[in-house]
Amino acid sequence: MVARVIPVEPFDLVVFGATGDLARRKILPSLFRRFAEGQMPPGARVIGAARSTLTADTFRDHIAAALDEHLGGAAPDRDAVASFLQRLDYVALDAGDETGWRALAARMRPDVVQAHYFSVAPPLFADLAAGLDRHGLNRPDTRVVVEKPFGHDLGSARALNAMLAGHFDESQVYRIDHYLGKETVQNLMAVRFANILFEPLWNARFVDHVQITVAETVGVEGRGGYYDASGAMRDMVQNHLMQLLCLIAMEPPHRFEPDAVRDEKLKVIRALDPVRPEDIVRGQYRAAGGVKSFAEEVENPESRTESYIALRVGVSSWRWKGTPFYLRTGKRLRARASEIAVTFRDPPHSIFGEDAPWRANVLVIRLQPDEGMTLRVMIKEPGPGGMRLKDVALDMSFAEALGGEMHIPDAYERLIMDVIRGNQTLFMRGDEVEAAWAWTDPVIAGWEARGDRPHPYDPGSTGPEDALMLMHRDGRRWREIR
Ligand code: NAP
Repeated sequence: MVARVIPVEPFDLVVFGATGDLARRKILPSLFRRFAEGQMPPGARVIGAARSTLTADTFRDHIAAALDEHLGGAAPDRDAVASFLQRLDYVALDAGDETGWRALAARMRPDVVQAHYFSVAPPLFADLAAGLDRHGLNRPDTRVVVEKPFGHDLGSARALNAMLAGHFDESQVYRIDHYLGKETVQNLMAVRFANILFEPLWNARFVDHVQITVAETVGVEGRGGYYDASGAMRDMVQNHLMQLLCLIAMEPPHRFEPDAVRDEKLKVIRALDPVRPEDIVRGQYRAAGGVKSFAEEVENPESRTESYIALRVGVSSWRWKGTPFYLRTGKRLRARASEIAVTFRDPPHSIFGEDAPWRANVLVIRLQPDEGMTLRVMIKEPGPGGMRLKDVALDMSFAEALGGEMHIPDAYERLIMDVIRGNQTLFMRGDEVEAAWAWTDPVIAGWEARGDRPHPYDPGSTGPEDALMLMHRDGRRWREIR
């Protein structure tokens, strides 16, 4: 099966921070893939901007090396790479002063879509916004893409929103959460809202509980300072896990349109219960098997920052009252795996007798490593010998289901093209971000006031032992991380 590619309008996309890690690893490789798929029309250009004094040609050399390093899979077509590089330009520019801005303004074409990707440290966002205004680069239809972290707490998120609102209309602002760009996440909405099958069961009467797991094998990857000041709650739960929870818990929007979807997500965040101290387990990996401890990696022996967190939260709505949501995420865990598992309740009565083996139906939505969905159902074990029951997985790997050869676009590919199309559905609105912080802040303030220390766990494990208790206590078990 070949993916249908609809070219976008011609555009000028400025990538501020084009020499940085995110641009090299994600943004430019994603743009290349869209180019190779035929989605970038002849009039589409990418202008890199950073302080380094590079010529357009040396910038292209940098990006050619980045594509070699980060595209993965089979070697890219050399001709396609050469043609893509011709779409790139570069301006040496300093966000904080006047260097380069006039040169940038002179490059921008008035008759194409204009978008600016702020792939720089958040303290520079205000300078970039002011620079765009000063140099006539902020038209009513100009789009700005803002990377995470979107604030550190409610106060800083409000300040950032207020700063952006001082320059841009909300319809111009694209706050990226790349989890929302994943194929599976959108498929979750398709499964829920394009089929009759699940929606009648999608409530506390039929759903026993929901588990959302984002497990990483990596440590802090050289970002120790940032991570020690942040931790798993701020870095992962407040944004990524929260967004996944919203998509599971939200009511059907009346249309698949940006504000209709975002209104429903916002209602979920506002309905989240406060988290009780006994419903949180924080962990921090210790040194073991030649792997440094978290405290060593972040160079802070006194660090109390969590590299792991598990928590239980309720959603106070008619639909979900009584169904707990268990969230967990951590670094240096046994496997890299992200999934949402919706576990249904047992049937009210077993006609096969009390002794019949029983496993609950579970719908698993896998985000990584291989995107897909699995539905676990009970069937009769084949063959003679009476009615023996067995649970089997109805498995759907998207790559296989769609013909094996189809490339599932990286989240950034889809999201950047959505920016050019002017579609904000998969981007967070300012009030969503603030509501998420309003729920997060008291949780963090609570453990800070109590002086809680994170529980140690071994690198390569599934997290601290106490996290098991969080589920056992409720008569439930975490799914395996593998
Ligand atoms: P980075 O590697 O430190 O790159 C920063 C970029 O900003 C460089 O290109 C740097 O180039 C440029 N820059 C610094 N000061 C500047 C100034 N005054 N004017 C103009 N350009 C300036 O950072 P990153 O990891 O790419 O992260 C970029 C943003 O994405 C951050 O907000 C980060 O939180 C977010 N993010 C990153 C990742 C990731 O995996 N890396 C993931 C999620 C979110 P010069 O030194 O040449 O100016």
